[in-house]
Amino acid sequence: QAKSFGRNQLHVFDVQHDHAVQTQHTRQTRVAQALHAGELVLHYQPKVNLRTGEIIGLEALLRWQHPQEGLLGPQHLLPLVEDTDLQVELGEWVLRQALAQMRQWTDAGMLWEVSVNIAAPHFHRPNFVPRLKDILHTCLEVSPTRLELEILESAALEDMQYMRSMMQSCQALGVRFALDDFGTGYSSLSYLKRLPAETIKIDQSFVRGILEDGDDLTLVQAIVALAAAFHRHVVAEGVETAEHAARLLELGCERAQGYGIARPMPAHEVLGWARDHAARHAARAVQNAAER
Ligand code: C2E
Ligand code: MG
Ligand code: MG
Ligand code: MG
Repeated sequence: QAKSFGRNQLHVFDVQHDHAVQTQHTRQTRVAQALHAGELVLHYQPKVNLRTGEIIGLEALLRWQHPQEGLLGPQHLLPLVEDTDLQVELGEWVLRQALAQMRQWTDAGMLWEVSVNIAAPHFHRPNFVPRLKDILHTCLEVSPTRLELEILESAALEDMQYMRSMMQSCQALGVRFALDDFGTGYSSLSYLKRLPAETIKIDQSFVRGILEDGDDLTLVQAIVALAAAFHRHVVAEGVETAEHAARLLELGCERAQGYGIARPMPAHEVLGWARDHAARHAARAVQNAAER
């Protein structure tokens, strides 16, 4: 703020504002320290095909292993760095970390996709694409086609033309896109037509209500139909129960993510979870065949 004033210009600081800037600065410093001290980690939440049981991929979700307060969610970090250089540094760290993890899973024979959430101000940086290209080049063992960038639908609507061209430049590198929290951004048909995202993720607030709220059910049905019409994949977020999963399958939504399938977990637990998941699914398939 103060930087914008002329060098010799007199101005009176707003004490309260100055204080706010101070604490903001202190919090950001704390986040920077956490990043450099290795207190930040990514947890991974599986995304599966409900019908086949196949693991499609995992979403990387930021966590802060705070020395005093324990494991903190992204809401304790992200608002503090909104629209700052630190947000970009953090976002690039998440990308590098996710790629390194993908390489490990690839070595174990698991060609899973990994989805990374990208904050809109980070995505809007003019050098986002060359930076992404550099990051991808540091990890040649992983095909960029297995990296998916999740952009909030609401953010994607802000500057369509620019958004579209940015997404196309990234796609030229091989990476793919998902529109996150879809349905909350007042999308219209024409918006989806113009945004080259391969996947849309139905916001969990609608998914949660499909069993008892007719409006939510109608909305989810409409989004599934929209996705099919535009040849996009659709993923339901926030699938918490077997009833939700069964209803989604009836609605033609096969891909899902949620606590009912798996909670976000540390990277080292993922291979074990995948083995258990495959065994559970095989057992269920046998049971279904026996009942038929
Ligand atoms: P999101 O991308 O929509 O991620 C889904 C959120 O829903 C995650 O919360 C996940 O833990 C939670 N979730 C998954 N399944 C269920 C369920 O069945 N029930 C309920 N109640 N919740 C479920 P989380 O990890 O707290 O992340 C919140 C948001 O923070 C994310 O929403 C995303 O927008 C943002 N975020 C997380 N990690 C990053 C990151 O590395 N970079 C950026 N820019 N944003 C991130
Ligand atoms: Mg997401
Ligand atoms: Mg979401
Ligand atoms: Mg969300």
